[in-house]
Amino acid sequence: MKPLEGRIALVTGAGSGLGRADAVVLAERGAAVIVNDVNAEGADETVAQIVAAGGRALACVADVGASAAIAEAIAQTTAQFGEVDILVNNAGIPSRRQPFDEVRDDELERMFQIHVMGSWYCTRAVLPGMKRRRRGKIVNTSSILGMAGRKRGSHYAGAKAALIGLTKAWAREFAEWNIQVNAVAPGRVRTPILGAFADSEEYKRDLLANVPLGRRGEPEEVAWLVAFLASREADFITGQVISPNGGEVI
Ligand code: NAD
Repeated sequence: MKPLEGRIALVTGAGSGLGRADAVVLAERGAAVIVNDVNAEGADETVAQIVAAGGRALACVADVGASAAIAEAIAQTTAQFGEVDILVNNAGIPSRRQPFDEVRDDELERMFQIHVMGSWYCTRAVLPGMKRRRRGKIVNTSSILGMAGRKRGSHYAGAKAALIGLTKAWAREFAEWNIQVNAVAPGRVRTPILGAFADSEEYKRDLLANVPLGRRGEPEEVAWLVAFLASREADFITGQVISPNGGEVI
């Protein structure tokens, strides 16, 4: 029997990058996966990939930062699929390396709306079922920038640091229902989030100078950790921040 057989997972932002890898790896390990993304095409592609490999998946298209819309979308998909045992809060947007005084109010608000409020809304939607069943796994996607900060792009670092605070507080608050809450804080991973900047000489120099393993991670190298944190093997782990980062932050 596969380790996550019989479990229902919800992965946000699973239409691309890390979220897609999380969804695919959770499905490989036996979970049925609700694939959230604001981008319907991306969500459908992930669903098709999982189904083609023999897994179960369903798209859930909504903006995690829109309180009523995401609650409604999660209610609809769980009515079809079953209540969520594993929530991976992953949906996110990148920041350009903007100096503090160039970040506009709308950019600051959107950054917190998606990463922080979005994780809050999704957690709120699945928590009653987890409490009733007295089991659940929540994995928040922070970043090394939430642990160590960054010069320029502080709105992103601040939102990712807030997720670490939520992880620790939720771990304490939800423990009485046997719900474990942890965060992954990836370093640089090969996903579309960086766009063309990832090919620039500036980025390559920076990578070699700062990452002891000398390379970016692959999305699966984060997804394997997420799948472990979602498994029974991690039942005694809660409130932790684990950082797959090639040694960039030690
Ligand atoms: P990505 O752009 O490949 O994927 C992000 C996905 O989230 C996209 O499919 C996008 O449509 C979706 N999304 C964006 N806003 C959304 C919203 N409001 N509601 C629902 N879906 C939404 O990016 P990625 O690199 O896979 O990043 C995934 C997460 O990992 C993000 O939270 C990011 O901050 C974090 N992260 C990435 C890296 C990295 O190096 N790639 C490092 C650390 C942390």
